[in-house]
Amino acid sequence: MAGRNHLYIPGPTNVPNEILNAMHIPMEDHRSPAFPKLLTPLLNDLKKIFRTETGQAFIFPATGTAGWEIALTNCLNPGDKVLIYRFGQFSHLWAEMAKRLGFYVEIHQETWGKGIPLDKLEARLKEDTGHEIKAVLATHNETATGVTSDIAGTRKAMDAANHPALLFVDGVSSIASLDFRMDEWGVDGAISGSQKGFMLPAGGAFVAFSQKALQAVETSTYPRCFLDLKDQMTNNASGYTPYTPNLPLLYGLRKALDMLLEEGMENVYARHHRLAEGTRKAIAAWGLTLCAQAGFESDTVSAIVVPEDKDARTVISTAFSKYNISLGAGLSEVAGKVFRIGHVGDMNDVSMLGAIAGVEMAMLDSGFDIQPGSGVAAAIEYYRATAK
Ligand SMILES: *Cc1c(COP(=O)(O)O)cnc(C)c1O
Repeated sequence: MAGRNHLYIPGPTNVPNEILNAMHIPMEDHRSPAFPKLLTPLLNDLKKIFRTETGQAFIFPATGTAGWEIALTNCLNPGDKVLIYRFGQFSHLWAEMAKRLGFYVEIHQETWGKGIPLDKLEARLKEDTGHEIKAVLATHNETATGVTSDIAGTRKAMDAANHPALLFVDGVSSIASLDFRMDEWGVDGAISGSQKGFMLPAGGAFVAFSQKALQAVETSTYPRCFLDLKDQMTNNASGYTPYTPNLPLLYGLRKALDMLLEEGMENVYARHHRLAEGTRKAIAAWGLTLCAQAGFESDTVSAIVVPEDKDARTVISTAFSKYNISLGAGLSEVAGKVFRIGHVGDMNDVSMLGAIAGVEMAMLDSGFDIQPGSGVAAAIEYYRATAK
């Protein structure tokens, strides 16, 4: 098929040409005296994306999933109790990982479409007078349902209960795209990956830990090796890594950080909000609804519920085979019930209009009762009215 495939999934996201070019490099000796000039500024600048001055950032040649494991195994002890609200496939997988790693996992089930219930969290933590819960696992942006939780509020609930648990946040589909403030929100472990807001290929687990979390690393007896933060700290101190780094990804990250910091994080957040808002105007014009309930709408991904007599998989397969666009599928509980449009990373008004037009064609082909052009019209009016 002529023309490029249009990638509208919430990760991996489109990699800008500048980043692709920056990664096209010959290999280098990672033990050379030149290597720290690459690594040390990367670690410092990553902190600006996580919005931390007091914490420390790390890069592992891994993915977001490893970030979950890094937080759990470095800062906790075997058998420790952790609390998680589960409301989508990613919070589910994090809870399952914690179980498999031998932690005692207190799972609170929430409706898929909602996020962390702050009042319930506060009440539960107040009950835990013996402070048995050692960490709260918070999924900032549940990519499966397009739901964003309130992390500032999560911290407030923990403080209101005067609870000392660590706050670990899965920011894989929020950090570098949605408002995220590690220091201000008192996040102890912030977890991200390279292939979403950072606009890179997969293969980088980017994480940051607070001083409180790093102190917990000192006393943790959990066995670990490849994902050990202490090995990273020892080597990072002089600008090196404990094992061979993923060099092209580091050069790509250099470019990505330059692009994000040049745009300014507030502008990055505002751009994602605006692109998401235009997408939501289109969805409303089609007469369809989000999986996310009011107040939880994500600015990086929209999960759209199809009418009961329709299968979302038909929309996705038609969009791919007839129009060469890739949409996100519904995962697990919402398989067939939702399809997802990613609006994260290297996107602008016209790229979103491509997604909206392609979705509209695929829905019409799948027998949806929608007006041709209705979503596109709603989105272009919003984008025109709000363009700078
Ligand atoms: C993508 C994603 C992950 C998993 O990341 P991998 O890089 O695939 O390991 C975890 N959490 C959330 C919220 C995600 O969106």
